[in-house]
Amino acid sequence: MLKNLFYAWLILLPIIGTAQNNTGIPIPMKKGIIYYEKSFPVVGGFRKQDFYNAVMQWSENSFPDVIVGFAITTDYISCDGAFKIITNQAHIFTLKFKLEVALNDTGYTIRAYNFYENSNVIGKSHEYSKIEYRWWDYRQGKPWSADDKPLFKGLDSSMTAMFASFRSYPLILKSARLAHTPKFKVLALFSTNVEADHVDFAYDAIKFYKNMADEKGFAFDTTSNWENLNDANLKNYKIVIWLNEFPHNEPERRSFEKFMDGGGSWLGFHVSGYNDKDTHWPWFVNFMGGAVFYDNNWPPLPAKMIVDDNKHPVTKHLPKNYTAPINEWYGWRPDPRDNKDVKVLVTLDPVNYPLGKKDVIKSGDMPVVWTNTKYKMVYMNMGHGDKNFESPLQNKMFEDAVLWLAR
Ligand code: ZN
Repeated sequence: MLKNLFYAWLILLPIIGTAQNNTGIPIPMKKGIIYYEKSFPVVGGFRKQDFYNAVMQWSENSFPDVIVGFAITTDYISCDGAFKIITNQAHIFTLKFKLEVALNDTGYTIRAYNFYENSNVIGKSHEYSKIEYRWWDYRQGKPWSADDKPLFKGLDSSMTAMFASFRSYPLILKSARLAHTPKFKVLALFSTNVEADHVDFAYDAIKFYKNMADEKGFAFDTTSNWENLNDANLKNYKIVIWLNEFPHNEPERRSFEKFMDGGGSWLGFHVSGYNDKDTHWPWFVNFMGGAVFYDNNWPPLPAKMIVDDNKHPVTKHLPKNYTAPINEWYGWRPDPRDNKDVKVLVTLDPVNYPLGKKDVIKSGDMPVVWTNTKYKMVYMNMGHGDKNFESPLQNKMFEDAVLWLAR
């Protein structure tokens, strides 16, 4: 008997799957069965166990008669939920269903399916039975009784309420915001005793990258104590960012060299790439692709940019040309473009010349963003003043650089 039912069900499946729903009750279906599914993004990620604990607590509060306990697989947590629907015939139906909450990198998905009904109607079996047969007949205009309409309406509104309750359950919200296992760790170093415009940028950058870290699920630590640039501490980090400063003493420089030679990543802004005859750090000049600071414009100005490569992961979201917000732009001699290991990604457009009033740049090739392909590094000349994050386009590059360096 069971076997026969099973085969009957198999034959029915394709028919149900394509049937139209003209009932006005928006019960969703998938592969022939009633199937509720909704995905929700989560900003900041979460620890799996915290989230599952929250799901269990919510379920226990929501379905006092959970019939089967919780099962946790690598992909989801599931349980059997049940709720009652009282129809206008004063009949009580218990609906039982499978509930699943699955986790992924960007959020969670709730699914409810395998609905069974059990009614207290006199003369009816008190066994649970699959609800799809009844739903099929109802859709064909052949309801089993006056209970059908309120039953299916009740099913749909219970599901809507259930999803809403899940979404707003305090522990779910809290666990979704909880500290998560970061995908990677970033250390940003800055200084507060440098040019005011350079400090402004550092604080803006910290705010920007902290937000990004929350969204993308990585750790972002900051320090203005450059002694943290030491071997033991750097072991914790995938990426080091310099926000308008560079190490001035030998131990910090050696640790940084070791970090980079050992496969670490670096993102440097503006004056972080500065070097001249007085900085006495040949390793760093080489690291920068041979580029030595040569000149700058003044006052800081917005400038048109040429994007040299729109396919590179760092610049893939930029158009061929865009206008960068106000910045002080640096010229370099020798030109890093002349180094075969350097890949220039963004260049100051010559249409900007003459650029400046007090200090005027009149000509010359001015790479603005580049990478020395011998290292996992990106240098960006942006970083002077408090306007650098005003271009959503350019901000995308600031993000993409970190994602690329984390590879
Ligand atoms: Zn500057």
